[in-house]
Amino acid sequence: MPQPVASLSLDLDNKWSYLKTHGDRGWESFPSYLDTVVPRFLDMLGGLGLRITVFIVGQDAALEQNRESLSALAAAGHEIGNHSFHHEPWLHLYSPGQIEGEISAAEDAIFSATGVVPHGFRGPGYSLSPAVIDCLARRGYRYDASTLPTLIGPLARTYYFFTARLSRDQLRQRRRLFGGWKDGLQPIRPYWWQITDDAAAILPSDRRLLEIPVTTLPVFRVPIHFSYLLFLRTFSRVAAWSYWRMAMNVCRLTGVEPSLLLHPLDVLGGDEEPDLSFFPAMKMSGVAKRTFVRELLADFSRRFRVLPLGEHAALLAKRSGLSVRKAIATQRPYTQDEDICPRRPEPALTVEAGRQ
Ligand SMILES: [Zn+2]
Repeated sequence: MPQPVASLSLDLDNKWSYLKTHGDRGWESFPSYLDTVVPRFLDMLGGLGLRITVFIVGQDAALEQNRESLSALAAAGHEIGNHSFHHEPWLHLYSPGQIEGEISAAEDAIFSATGVVPHGFRGPGYSLSPAVIDCLARRGYRYDASTLPTLIGPLARTYYFFTARLSRDQLRQRRRLFGGWKDGLQPIRPYWWQITDDAAAILPSDRRLLEIPVTTLPVFRVPIHFSYLLFLRTFSRVAAWSYWRMAMNVCRLTGVEPSLLLHPLDVLGGDEEPDLSFFPAMKMSGVAKRTFVRELLADFSRRFRVLPLGEHAALLAKRSGLSVRKAIATQRPYTQDEDICPRRPEPALTVEAGRQ
């Protein structure tokens, strides 16, 4: 029997982006740990024979100091994806023009650092709107991977805000960070976004985009990704392994092809990045984290044929029977936020992209 398929990705969030979302000072100088984490991932993934998708933030690609690390990822055969330019988890509040500027500026910077034009997208903090989907489809993207259908998003947000120093306006900007309760009910299995200009329109078949959700535990909608397993590991190694094995078995039994994700803090301990101690599992040392994650990845690749998302998307696109959801491009979600989240002038995005 052929091995079932799965996919794996890495959101290459940099130190500055975590400090920025958390409202901490110092992010403006773009502190980076990419020189440390990229070789660690290359070593770990190379040792396991895994090729994955790495979602790169355009701002990092635009900085000379990061280019060697980023080009090494492409040279090692990993797929390069677009993770926005400014990594603002309130991307869904941007106007269509700002979204276009954000996505194209990231494409340009990523191409210039890696020589690769990305065809896959993941929004910062799982931020997504119909206008983002429409923009990706028009720009020829093959898939989006910005949804995390979990019921614990609001709990994670509460925990995050508890440790943050944010103004009222900043809290409002971030009020959908990690998603709301409704996001927990979105599909776990991949589907097509069908883009339309209004709810009643006949849908043109060429305006569609494949969505590959980050897999959560079927039925219970609890995360399976590696940061969550590290969080469980801080309580009990046995509990973390039991949960992992149960989740993988449930995926097999229900025919779900898991698409899991990694983060840089999965290979960095609190002993190495004390500025980010507000994250869960930062009580663990870097060595302990890397050992645990390597063991999990080895088990993952024994159970599944683990692919980069682009290859998983190509297999899915060939299959019939995927469900379809409408994305109404002209509908502006969250418009109630417009007054409290004033947008920057649209040209600023591209100007900033060149200057930073
Ligand atoms: Zn991110």
